[in-house]
Amino acid sequence: MLTVVLALVVHLALGFGSRSFEAYCPFGGVESLWGLFTTGEFSCALGPLNLSFLVALLGLTLLCKKAFCGWVCPIGFLGDLAARASGWAWKHRPPVPPRLNRALKLLRYVVLAVSLFFTYRAGELVLRGYDPYFLIFSGFGHGSAGLLSVFVLAGILIGMAIIPMMFCRYLCPLGAVFDPFSRLGLLRISRDPAKCTGCGRCARACLHDIPVPTLRTVRHRDCTQCLECLNACPEKGALELRARGTLRLPPWALPVLASLALTAGYFLRIPLTRPTSVQTFAEGTGVTTAFVVDGLRCKGTAAFLTSRYEETPGILQIETFASERTAVFTYDPQRLNPSRIREIMEAPIPFEDGTTQQVFRCVSPR
Ligand code: SF4
Ligand code: SF4
Repeated sequence: MLTVVLALVVHLALGFGSRSFEAYCPFGGVESLWGLFTTGEFSCALGPLNLSFLVALLGLTLLCKKAFCGWVCPIGFLGDLAARASGWAWKHRPPVPPRLNRALKLLRYVVLAVSLFFTYRAGELVLRGYDPYFLIFSGFGHGSAGLLSVFVLAGILIGMAIIPMMFCRYLCPLGAVFDPFSRLGLLRISRDPAKCTGCGRCARACLHDIPVPTLRTVRHRDCTQCLECLNACPEKGALELRARGTLRLPPWALPVLASLALTAGYFLRIPLTRPTSVQTFAEGTGVTTAFVVDGLRCKGTAAFLTSRYEETPGILQIETFASERTAVFTYDPQRLNPSRIREIMEAPIPFEDGTTQQVFRCVSPR
């Protein structure tokens, strides 16, 4: 399932599909809440889909803890790969001392508070230059933090190779949002003391250092229900996935529930579509054509796209929707037509060093 999600994100990051890959990030829903309450606007490139996914995934977390992290999140997947790759070289990796582990986990609340404070204050995703999800899948797009972004990403990947799931444990702000919901999670790993021999294999397999052999049921907020402990356990029936310790569920229930939550998030479509920008050039009635534009991905690119039509005869209004990569043009059909709009959009931009570059590409209508 993770491979499918990763393939979809890469597909979107390469510019296919009608939305940017950021439109699907559930943390975008959290980042947008304040703006929606105060000004009725989404932050930068975010839109209603971010909110729909957030709601659906909070429901998933109430049902099966942080299954999103274990079965869906691309960064969780990369953390898993990094831990496995380094695990070959480092067979007996020592666990992080429990007190230090607990103290470091507080960092994710700091990251959450800092990212929300700056995002709410600026109305922009100011920390996206330090977000591994954005850095990996944008190919360091937006030039948000330049070389520093490369060091941040390298540091996170090295950190995840040394401490399994380091980013998820200590830095992920979405994990911090999920924490109280995860504690309530209905489905839990349940240990049968009568069958458990105390061999400790489950604890060694757990990438979050959860002391499974000391627990009756794993209520721990960090359990991603990855089922590594179940797979490592040699005693049949000693560990099982149960709803509140009673009803037993098969392992395949988790990817099924995660898939259902993603599907629900996609189709929930919270009806809160808001334009990223609205620029009126002249009053009057005209005809309207919507364009899906590759390169339209945030407030900055929306403003730049709009500015290209300042001198265009016949243009009445441009509305942009960055999360949908869509620009809606209203124009006087006697003086302007879709072909000319597209021509202006796709014209190469001259730079100071004498080079030119095509910034926007019309995906549809063709
Ligand atoms: S190994 Fe077991 S206890 Fe650890 S996160 Fe995965 S499912 Fe939860
Ligand atoms: S791996 Fe199985 S038998 Fe060993 S400690 Fe864990 S639950 Fe008990």
